[in-house]
Formats: sequence, C-alpha cells, structure tokens
Amino acid sequence: MELVTTAFPPSSAGWPASRAGAVLSIDLAALAANYRLVAGQAAGAVCAAVVKADAYGLGVAQVAPVLEQAGARQFFVAHVDEGLELRAHVSAGAGITVLHGPRPDAVKACLAGGLRPVLNSLEQIGWVRQAARATGRGVGVVLQLDTGMSRFGLSEADVAELASTPALLEGLHVELIMSHLACADTPADPANAMQAACLRRMAAMLPPAPLSLAASSGIFLGPAYHFDLVRPGAALYGVAPNRESSGLLRPVVGLSAHVLQIRTLQSGDRVGYGLTWQASAPRRVATIAAGYADGQARHGAGQQCAWFRGQRLPVLGRISMDSMTVDITDVPQGQLEVDGMVDLLNPGYGVDALAEAQGTIGYEILTSLGRRYHRVYTDGACAAEHSHAGEGARA
Ligand SMILES: *Cc1c(COP(=O)(O)O)cnc(C)c1O
Repeated sequence: MELVTTAFPPSSAGWPASRAGAVLSIDLAALAANYRLVAGQAAGAVCAAVVKADAYGLGVAQVAPVLEQAGARQFFVAHVDEGLELRAHVSAGAGITVLHGPRPDAVKACLAGGLRPVLNSLEQIGWVRQAARATGRGVGVVLQLDTGMSRFGLSEADVAELASTPALLEGLHVELIMSHLACADTPADPANAMQAACLRRMAAMLPPAPLSLAASSGIFLGPAYHFDLVRPGAALYGVAPNRESSGLLRPVVGLSAHVLQIRTLQSGDRVGYGLTWQASAPRRVATIAAGYADGQARHGAGQQCAWFRGQRLPVLGRISMDSMTVDITDVPQGQLEVDGMVDLLNPGYGVDALAEAQGTIGYEILTSLGRRYHRVYTDGACAAEHSHAGEGARA
C-alpha cells in the first residue's frame, strides 16, 4: 500500500487538476455581471454583497475582490471570523458587516478588526455598548428588527424599551436598521408587504437611520422593498431569485467529473449499494468520480443525472461516498471513454435544476460543493472548454 505523504487537507483551491476526480469551474465574469444586473435592479439603493459561508462555497478570497471591482463597497458575512478573513481580500475602505453580531467573547476582535456588528438583541446591544464605552469613542452598528420571521432581531417590546431609554444606545451610532423577509421568493405572499410595513413602523420609533430589508429575492419584488440598501447573496452566484426569474442571471458554476470505469450490464444485473437498481435490458454504465462526500446528496439519486454533449445520463442506484454510476447507453460508441468527463453542472443544467432534482434549493447545492474538487476560476472565456472537454483536468 502506498503511503500518502502529501499535506492534507487540500488548500481551498482544491486538489491539482491532474489528480482531482472532478473539476469545479467558477466564472468570475458571470459573477461580476450578476452583481451589476442586481445592482441595476435596485438602482436607488446601495447594493451590498453577501459573502458569508466562504462566498456560498465559491471561495471568498477569489469572489470578494471581483465583487468589489464590480462596484460593491459593503459586504455582509455571518460570523466575526468570516469578517476577519474577508478583511484581507477587500480594500481598507470596504465596509464589512457581521450579521450575527459578536458573542460576548468576540466583541473586542469584532471592533478591533473594523467589523460592523449587527445587534440582534438588547443583551447584544449591552455587550457592544460596554465595549464602546471602554474605547471612549462611538461605534457604528446595525440594528436588526424581527418583523415576523422570529429568527433574528429586536422585538417590538425591545424597540419600545430602546425608544423610552435612549441611554441603552449610548456610544452606538446606528448606521443602518435592517430586517429580513421570510417569503420573498413567493411574490404573492401577503407576509412580504406586512414585513415591509412592520419595518417602517418599528424603525420610526428609533433614531433615524437608513433601512434595509431585501436579499436576492426581495430585490425582485420591486422598489417598495429596496429601501436604502439591498443585501443580495444567492443571485450573485447565479441562483434564481424566484421561479419567474430563472434565466435572468448568468450561471457561475460548472462541475465536471472524470469517468473512472465503464462496463456493460446484462439484463438482470444490478447496481450500487443495496443493489437497488436492476437493468431490464443491456446497458453501458460509467462510474464517475463524485459522490456524497463531494456534496452530491445521497437522497437525491432518484432524479439526478449527469450530462454529456447534451445527452442526459440518469444516475443509477444509490450514490456512494466517492462515486456514482450513470447510464451512458445512449452516448454513441467511442465518444465517451475512461478518463473522459461528464458534467454535473453546466450552463444548460445549473444549480437550480440540480437542486430541484435533489429536492433542495440552489443555496444548499452551492454551500455543499465538495472540497476535493479542483477549482478553476475563469473569466468566462474558457469555462465551457473546462466543463466539456476535460482540458482543465490535464492543464
Ligand atoms: C444570507 C442573508 C442574505 C443574503 O440572502 P440571499 O437570499 O442569498 O440573497 C441577506 N440578509 C441576511 C440577513 C442573510 O442572512
């Protein structure tokens, strides 16, 4: 047995192309185009960029500078440590806001790192107020209000308490008041208008500040939801903001996996763990190098497929940890051989389509993308080549 002496785990750029089982391509030109499109959609508002969870799995080190170049000046992350990491990838003037705000032990690091905290509770306001007093200068903060989602933010009672006791905000400059929509991907849902009205009503009790409500889907509800700042994440990465707007944004992610083995099945032969799939006629099948450890949801196997030159290749049987088996019977002989590549995501079959097949949403597809892929960041020009010809894997 060979002893593996390479440094593990792999870097965020994934494994070398020559050895990786699959290649993930990320089109940075499409990313920039999507930012400009979304910003144009909310032209009256500041368009921030949400880059939490390593820019939705696409790599904050590569993604954030491109978004800044495209015009983003305000960035949102979820955690203090994500904000500290992001600091190294944007210019000093860029604003970084931490959606969760700091836990007590993280207040110092948050403020010292120049990160703007979102304050979600009176308790959290207290921690940061104390720290602001200790520094002797004002601290810029964002207040989040709970307008109906019961997830984050100050309640009506909390806001009333802040209104009657202004000293609770001493030393804190409220630079933004925000909330978050629960049903923005369903434009007809009455909760949307109720939440917007609730934000206005609650904010009127507080010191005047710019307002923010919309994430990706909310932006596409129209100007009544834009307020002063919008916070898109998913749309930048090519996830459709609602059913009506699929096709509006450019796909950002492509994924191709190597064929490891090809075999011919006879009628009656079965495939995979549990032998759950059985051939009812002779079949050619390929085992490809992507499995549930790479984010290919095991429970999604029934509907999932791969693609080769426009040909749909159904997944047969259960998805394994490191591989899955696909039906290549309809691919003409000689076109696809061992070490060739098939697509799991391509311009015609994107994250939303794969999400639908797996019974989830594009967000989860992106944030589940595996760490074992070789990552190729393109300017769009060579994305197709990487995802179809397999050249990227040998470059
Ligand atoms: C994640 C998040 C966003 C971005 O949401 P998308 O739907 O990805 O655009 C905006 N605001 C808050 C509070 C979030 O948690």
